[in-house]
Amino acid sequence: MRFDIITIFPDFFGSTLEYGVLSRARSTGLVRIDVHDLRSFTHDRHRTVDDRPFGGGEGMVLKPQPIYDAISSLAVTPKADRDASRESVILLSAQGRSFTQTVARELSGVERIVLICGRYEGVDERVNELLCDRELSIGDYVLSGGELGAAVIVDAVTRLLPGVLGHPDSTRFESFGVDEQPHAVEPDGAPPRTTAGAGGLLDYPHYTRPAEFQGLAVPEALAGGNHETIRRWRRRMALAKTLRNRPELLERAVLDDDDRRMLRELEQEQSRS
Ligand code: SAM
Repeated sequence: MRFDIITIFPDFFGSTLEYGVLSRARSTGLVRIDVHDLRSFTHDRHRTVDDRPFGGGEGMVLKPQPIYDAISSLAVTPKADRDASRESVILLSAQGRSFTQTVARELSGVERIVLICGRYEGVDERVNELLCDRELSIGDYVLSGGELGAAVIVDAVTRLLPGVLGHPDSTRFESFGVDEQPHAVEPDGAPPRTTAGAGGLLDYPHYTRPAEFQGLAVPEALAGGNHETIRRWRRRMALAKTLRNRPELLERAVLDDDDRRMLRELEQEQSRS
């Protein structure tokens, strides 16, 4: 997988890409990330990347030419011939489609991704029309630039690539996971995987040692070592968290009869509290 990031602030990405999972994925060659300074593709003395908006109004707009030249230098397939499931040019934009775990999964199958970071009032719309096959927003708020969004996409996509995380199940049974419910006991006889929430729910709460901290004990169900008790407690907590924080996710979640029964109980409990 290769990422190219086009930005007027290339230094922004220095430390962002140098820690943990991303750093390991880069050093083991599973992912390559190149950051390109948009100003290198300007042709005037002042290295101008922006200009005033047609129609008037506040702020400046990123000019199309430097971005066009930057993309040309990367030898990306022209938009009309591009297979967006293999190669994708993405504009970061508050007006874009929402970047979700589903989109991250879709992008993890793409071999090459170019991310264009906007600034100021945004990017000349012809960049979107001529070059981009996706326009993505990382959330319903306005950031001052696309760099944070690009870093979010690189991180979320990279950790889904085969071989990047230690255990392949880590990305199957976590928040927003689409897989079936986790087993009480894994086929290899191991206890339930530590990140076994899933089915489209949020993950359940996690605990580690000490068993008691500031007067709060670890839930009894987890301390006992009974795999089925642990599995049911985790499922119930995943349902409870989803119901409390993101109830709309329940509409698309994969639920069985037992889940629905627990959910009814939780709805009653939460309406009382
Ligand atoms: N005028 C734009 C609007 O109202 O939608 C906001 C422009 S914003 C200040 C500058 C740049 O930040 C955008 O071009 C985009 O690249 C990036 N940006 C801002 N919010 C974003 C978001 N929610 N997701 C992704 N990129 C965002």
